[in-house]
Amino acid sequence: MTKPVPTVPCPTCHKPVPWSKESPWRPFCSERCRLIDLGEWLCEERRIPGEPTAGEDEYDPERQDS
Ligand SMILES: [Zn+2]
Repeated sequence: MTKPVPTVPCPTCHKPVPWSKESPWRPFCSERCRLIDLGEWLCEERRIPGEPTAGEDEYDPERQDS
């Protein structure tokens, strides 16, 4: 018998994340989302200039889908 695993929405991308050992980054869905969230509040609280931001891979300047 397996109990249904409760899910929580990822604070970054709002994807449902299973609240179980399978999700080491919970409540985030992934390490990437965790770093993005961490980076956002670090930015707001500390204002570190020149810090590399997580999630850079979301923007690809070479993308040609115009
Ligand atoms: Zn996420």
